[in-house]
Amino acid sequence: MALMTPEQFEASLAERKPRVFMNGKRVESVLENPNTRTVVEANKASYEWALDPRYRDIMTSYSPLIGETVNRYTYVSASKEDLEAKAKAGTFTAEMLGTCIYRCVGYDAFHALAATTWEMDQKLGTLYHGRFLEYLKMVQKNDLSVAGALTEPRGSRKKRTLEWSDPFLSLKVTERRPDGIVVRGAKINISGAFASHELVVLPQSSHAEGEEDYAVAFAVPTDAEGITYICQYSPYSAERDQADDLYELGNPRFGQRETSMVVFDNVFVPWERVFHCGEYPYSGKIVTRFARTHRMTCGGTCKVGFMNQIIGACKLVQEYKGLEKVQHINDQITEMVVLRETGRACGMAAARLGTEEPPGSGVFLPDEVMGNVAKLNICNSFWRTMALAGDIGGGLVVTLPSLKELKNPETQAYVEEFYSFGSDEPTENILKVHKLLQHWTAGQHGVGTWHGAGPVAAQRIMLQRVVKFDHEKELVKRTLNIKDKDS
Ligand SMILES: Cc1cc2nc3c(=O)[nH]c(=O)nc-3n(C[C@H](O)[C@H](O)[C@H](O)COP(=O)(O)OP(=O)(O)OC[C@H]3O[C@@H](n4cnc5c(N)ncnc54)[C@H](O)[C@@H]3O)c2cc1C
Repeated sequence: MALMTPEQFEASLAERKPRVFMNGKRVESVLENPNTRTVVEANKASYEWALDPRYRDIMTSYSPLIGETVNRYTYVSASKEDLEAKAKAGTFTAEMLGTCIYRCVGYDAFHALAATTWEMDQKLGTLYHGRFLEYLKMVQKNDLSVAGALTEPRGSRKKRTLEWSDPFLSLKVTERRPDGIVVRGAKINISGAFASHELVVLPQSSHAEGEEDYAVAFAVPTDAEGITYICQYSPYSAERDQADDLYELGNPRFGQRETSMVVFDNVFVPWERVFHCGEYPYSGKIVTRFARTHRMTCGGTCKVGFMNQIIGACKLVQEYKGLEKVQHINDQITEMVVLRETGRACGMAAARLGTEEPPGSGVFLPDEVMGNVAKLNICNSFWRTMALAGDIGGGLVVTLPSLKELKNPETQAYVEEFYSFGSDEPTENILKVHKLLQHWTAGQHGVGTWHGAGPVAAQRIMLQRVVKFDHEKELVKRTLNIKDKDS
């Protein structure tokens, strides 16, 4: 059963019993709660597409590991072509969902673990890689949805981990037993984990000598004993809780991006699910390899799909309003296209220039420089796209009445008349498209895009670390015939 049907996915999720809280209350079923349901729907769609002849090539890949076709989100890239296919899948899923594909962080975490467990085994004689591959086989055979968790609460950023008054502000191993480890701490801002089967946990940062208990990576079922999810809650969540017409929310089926804090209160992890424990020099490698993959994804693929949704809505509004020949609107839409294509180009370049990392591992990762450039670039261009969409959409993007007015006999005729722009388009459609623009421009995607895959300072630091400028300096010296002192 390497590809589950959407129905099987939902049934398998119903068997999990994660401990989830939202808005001060226990969520008894993530399938039924209106907000957690959006994550179920988004993950479920990834199962639909994998079986759909129209999208199968994008959403699946043949896995030599188990000798079967698997969902692309459980597959580890073994070539540049695989990376390109993943870049295309990132855009496809984002534009179809208009939100996160929640299987993406787990996918990126697989790449970091596949590469680094291989390297640890080579250099240290550990047994992590075989263990990880057994785990990956299990995930592929059962077509599991896997979330990924790195980000931690952390203490004062002025101090090192060992100086924090609370040692659990970074996830910590509290016990090493013959059968496994026990961990305590939390991960924050974790996308969609409560509606996934599994959670892969990586360190958030590099670690130094003395911090061995924080150098840990493992996988757990999402309903493992001791795990609690405390979900995000926003005006959008409250609105969805009460909405009797989901079109009010802009993105009716898939919603905003849902995250939670994941608390690990003395969670036991058997050794066969532990992929890094104490080898502190390798924590940083896991993190940078994760970032390399995730920044291509976030910067150069999924936001391209989001931009397609925004551009589509702007084109419809332009037509509803009779603005098709207005030069500055066409210029703004052209600017959006350029921003979108620049984002796509960075993502595709990161995939095209990808390399086997480390050499001999068989794992392909996107190009480090282009992955970071992709994410840095998109942070600004996504805000800009939202600003342009706000201009084209007009004030209505934030002043819209409820769709219920179209069913209210006292207001229906007024709303239909005065929000029609005098066009032939039913007013309901006009309002829905503006609601979609509201979801993008006045929702949570701006900050979400900025911070997802790390804030811009992280990408700048990485670029400053990897770009050496020897080539550029040499060019100038050659042009000016400047000789080195000792030559
Ligand atoms: C929608 C969304 C989904 C996400 N999904 C996931 C997920 O699935 N899994 C996951 O692991 N994470 C996820 N994240 C977390 C994301 O990676 C982090 O939000 C991001 O790394 C920023 O961390 P932070 O939120 O703790 O902000 P902070 O680290 O507090 O950053 C705030 C500001 O402080 C600066 N800063 C912080 N620390 C330092 C320092 N030591 N020195 C100098 N400057 C500093 C930052 O550069 C930034 O300007 C998600 C985030 C969002 C918004």
